[in-house]
Amino acid sequence: MTEHAPPETRPSAGPGDASRRPPADEADVIVVGAGPAGATTAFYLAQSGLDVLLLEKATFPREKVCGDGLTPRAVKALVGMGISVGEQDGWVRNKGLRVIGAGKRLELAWPELASYPGYGLVRTRHDMDETLARRAQKAGARLLEGVNVTGPVLHERTGRISGVTARLADGEGERRYAARVVVAADGNSSRLSVAMGLPKRDDRPLGVAVRTYYQTPRHDDDYLESWLDLWDGDRLLPGYGWIFGMGDGTSNVGLGLLNTSAAFGHTDYHALLRRWLKGMPAEWGFTEENRTQPIRGAALPMGFNRTPHYFKGLLLVGDAGGMVNPFNGEGIAYAMESGEILARTITQALARARRPETERVLAGYPDALSQAYGGYYAVGRTFVKLIGQPGLMRFATRHAMSRPALMRFALKLLANLTDPRGDAADRLVNGLSKLAPNPE
Ligand SMILES: Cc1cc2nc3c(=O)[nH]c(=O)nc-3n(C[C@H](O)[C@H](O)[C@H](O)COP(=O)(O)OP(=O)(O)OC[C@H]3O[C@@H](n4cnc5c(N)ncnc54)[C@H](O)[C@@H]3O)c2cc1C
Repeated sequence: MTEHAPPETRPSAGPGDASRRPPADEADVIVVGAGPAGATTAFYLAQSGLDVLLLEKATFPREKVCGDGLTPRAVKALVGMGISVGEQDGWVRNKGLRVIGAGKRLELAWPELASYPGYGLVRTRHDMDETLARRAQKAGARLLEGVNVTGPVLHERTGRISGVTARLADGEGERRYAARVVVAADGNSSRLSVAMGLPKRDDRPLGVAVRTYYQTPRHDDDYLESWLDLWDGDRLLPGYGWIFGMGDGTSNVGLGLLNTSAAFGHTDYHALLRRWLKGMPAEWGFTEENRTQPIRGAALPMGFNRTPHYFKGLLLVGDAGGMVNPFNGEGIAYAMESGEILARTITQALARARRPETERVLAGYPDALSQAYGGYYAVGRTFVKLIGQPGLMRFATRHAMSRPALMRFALKLLANLTDPRGDAADRLVNGLSKLAPNPE
């Protein structure tokens, strides 16, 4: 759809400029999708006084296929938004990661750092995502649920996005929303990005993961548990299985694989999960009778697998921008952090008086992302290629699992948990990320 009078020509409404509030279907910024990326972006934008429409196709609370595991990075992002993460608020704390592989079992505490808290969390996405979306709403974002965005509205001359079309739930018909800037926070498939001509990149890593829940005595666990041995016949697959105790009588159990494996795309993930669980002790109860939810799966877009992150007025954040950590499949922390980076960029951009200045600031968003993650993701892309070779993966697992100090280093690298001026391990991880070639 195209239009003639783009809202981008409206005079700049800087942060806090309430006298210039646009009409109901217009806003300074439209954020499409109210997952962790969208809710965080909307929260920080609203805090800066901008008028934000946060459009979500589902109605909260809603399910999201996920492992529900949060590392200290994600905890930091939650705390930054002023969210109470106490056990009395429904969060389950963990001390670290238990790694099982090559016949060994290691408990690795989260590192003690100035930059990140020393604990992780577990919480269903059913609860967590609503908490985040309501937080954005409380900060002033206009959250509209049951609004399924169907496509971009383009400025006829420039081809820039100036709004979106949407189908409303409950048969209430179609609607158009307009804004100076539009954010795609619509997750892994990001239909909005695709409609703007931004497909996923084939040369960047992608994972696929499945998960379900079981009633189990293992529900009460103060470690996240990760299994490195995923076998397809006699082949070790690049990926891992997890058991995350939800503290409510159930565990989230799942596994994920990387596209660097020859088995990728030819694997029956449900069958692989069942085979893997068959090898577990019977008393854990990972049986069909104890399964409380269907097995569901989705893709994990990693290492910037959709670029550019700014294109013709559209800014990509979270999974829409392929921001899952290629080392460990963690996406929530990166969705939230990139949301904050983006919100700060947009706030500065919209405070500029003239369009070219605004444009210059928005164009800096990909650079800000590259600075935050570019080097680290470049190392991650190499890691993903290396562990796609079964022999190498087997060697690395055996070698590392019998060396706890090496595994403590690996935890820092894989979970991206370091201080800028930390110990030797921190400096090595930071140094690797700095040295890596870093194209968008
Ligand atoms: C099986 C599995 C396990 C995982 N486990 C973990 C884990 O343990 N820890 C972790 O950190 N990460 C994990 N991840 C990754 C994590 O789920 C994602 O990285 C994270 O959800 C990204 O957040 P997001 O806000 O970018 O996208 P999403 O969470 O996907 O949110 C996108 C939102 O946009 C909405 N939307 C989509 N299209 C439209 C539209 N057209 N109109 C309006 N709204 C729309 C959706 O309804 C949704 O609410 C896992 C992923 C999978 C598949």
